[in-house]
This record gives sequence, C-alpha cells and structure tokens, in this order.
Amino acid sequence: MPNLELLPARLVLKLGSALLVDTAGEVRRDWLATLIDDIADLRARGTEVIIVSSGAIALGSRRLGLTDGGRGSLDDAQASAAAGQIVLSGLYADLLSARKLTAAQILVTLDDLADRRRYLNASATFARLLALGAVPVVNENDSTATAEIRFGDNDRLAARVGQAAGADKVLLLSNVAGIYDRDPALGGATLINQVAPDAQIAAELGPSSGLGSGGMAAKVEAGRIAAASGIALTIADGRVQHPLSTWLQRGTGTTFLPSPAPGARKAWLIGHLDARGTLSIDDGARAALCEGGSLLAAGIKGVSGSFSRGDAVEVHDLDGALLARGLIAYSADEMRKIAGTRSDAQGDLLGYAPRAAVVHRNDLVLI
Ligand code: GLU
Repeated sequence: MPNLELLPARLVLKLGSALLVDTAGEVRRDWLATLIDDIADLRARGTEVIIVSSGAIALGSRRLGLTDGGRGSLDDAQASAAAGQIVLSGLYADLLSARKLTAAQILVTLDDLADRRRYLNASATFARLLALGAVPVVNENDSTATAEIRFGDNDRLAARVGQAAGADKVLLLSNVAGIYDRDPALGGATLINQVAPDAQIAAELGPSSGLGSGGMAAKVEAGRIAAASGIALTIADGRVQHPLSTWLQRGTGTTFLPSPAPGARKAWLIGHLDARGTLSIDDGARAALCEGGSLLAAGIKGVSGSFSRGDAVEVHDLDGALLARGLIAYSADEMRKIAGTRSDAQGDLLGYAPRAAVVHRNDLVLI
C-alpha cells in the first residue's frame, strides 16, 4: 500500500540509462516490467504518469557495434540514438500494452520547450494524451538535435517536461540513492534528504554511471529548475524491483522542495515577458477567470496590439483595469476574427478547428 501523501496527481518519472540497460548493452526487461506494473497500479489510483526514458544511445551503440557506449563522437551518439530509440519505443509499447495502457512517444529538443509557441503545443499534447488515458514516453530527439539545441541529459529534460505538463512531481530514478554531503567514494558520507529552494549545493557530490550523460550536476540543475517553478523533484534509487512502489512506500532519496510562492509554475512561465497586446473582457469572462476558468473568445470585447501565438498578453476589464496576464493561443489577426464568438462559429472564421481556449487557465496568472 503506497504512502498516499506521496501520491502525486501528475508524475514525471525519469529512468536513467544505467537502470534500463545492462553492461552488455541489453535491456533490463524484467526490471522494467516491474516498473510498468507500478505505473499501472498508480494509474488505477488516479495518478497520471509521464515517462522520460533514457537508454537510446546505450542500446543503439551495442546494436551498431560502436565503442565507448556510442558516445565517442556526436555522430556516433546520434546514430546510436536512432538505432536505440526504435528498440525503446517497441519495448514501452509492448510492456504498457500488456497492462492495457497505450504508450505515446514524444521526442523533443530543447527548442521545443524553450520556444513558447511550441511549448504550448507540447503542453496541449501532454494534456490530451493524459486525458485519453495514454502514457507519454519522452526522450530527447538526439538524432537530429545539434549541440546548441540539445539538453544533453534527460534530468533537465524531465524537469522541463514537468513544467510543460503541469506535473506536481518529478521523480528521477537513478543508480544512486540521492545526493550525499560529500563524495560517497571517500566514505562517511550522509544522504541529504531535503534541499531547500534556495540552498547552495555542490554539484559534484556523487558518481556518474558512465552510461548516461546526466551525472550529479545535471540532477542538481534539474532540481533547481523544478523547484523554481513550484514542482517537487526527488532523486531516488531505482535499482530495486518495483522501484516506484518501493519509493512510494519508503519516501527515501533527496528531494528538492518546491518554491512556496503560490502559482510559482505560472509565474515562472509568464515571468517578465513584455506583454505584446491587450484583450478587454466582459463581466461574464471576468467572473469565469476569478473562478479559475480559462479565457474563451466569447467574452472578449476588444483586441489591441500585435502578437503571435505563445506571446504574453494582458487581460483588462472594460474599464481598463489589469486583471490577468497569460500566454495567448492565437495571433492578433486570428484573435480579431474570433473575438466575441462561440467555439462552434470559430472553425469557419479561422479555417481550422479552434483551440480549447484563448488563454488556458494553466497559462494564466490573475493579478
Ligand atoms: N537521451 C539519451 C538517451 O536516450 C540519454 C540522456 C541522458 O543520459 O540523460 O540515450
């Protein structure tokens, strides 16, 4: 029986290469099957799970006969990732379907989550897949990402996926138990259980498996990214069978506590972006926003400014008072076409099926 206090509503679970792939370059399928059992149990309890899986390079290098685990050069890593990703995809599709779950693969680059327009698309895709009961399986698109647009490690990728998917927890399962107060190789080291949002922590406090590219520095950085946007991130030992249910029972590892600021994720998202335009809304739309709803086109009475999808806009009432800021789903031209209309009329005006909202509640901060 899991500790219900640890049960998140939406969990991003990252699996490191050293857990997934053995030293001979083969998948640890039996171990993975125990983890997929845990995921199925969690889904049955109402937790939505997104998997961020490493292992493509480690698996592919073996199949291509490359040395250095496929990390001898960027070309080798990119070729290995291509050969390994197809194996990973099949593996997750098989194991999840054996538990009557549908796997849905998403390969992303840094750009996909840094560019706000693409960020909105990625967010919407995660939301839709989870609503449909699927289990998204994410990895970096290593085969085409060039050095400048690579995450390079799945730890930071998992933290950014956590933000994009509105997760309340990121769990990095690793072949280490967490972060220690000194290099564990030197002996006498103690596991750090919790890291406060602003605490300084040395990034070198731990070994790297040699198989993946994460290491401790990337994990610490991932902890910071998640914490700053209000998401708790834990690094825990994944080497045991049923690693997720084991973690849920024991709650061990190192947890980066989330920033306590309310709406930290949204505040991070909208940050200090300059607003590119203004939407004026009627009282009905204002009431909906105050109750936590999304902004729909029907209540919009005025549109000013020049903006593109993903830009920040201000939302004003009819007297010009600032009510909210948010990331808009439409360009200014499109917005002018659909302001004041209901969704059944918008398809004809836009020439394509309308989006669920003009500013989704997840992308909106009330002032
Ligand atoms: N994306 C890499 C892979 O699938 C793993 C990156 C990492 O080790 O964190 O092999």
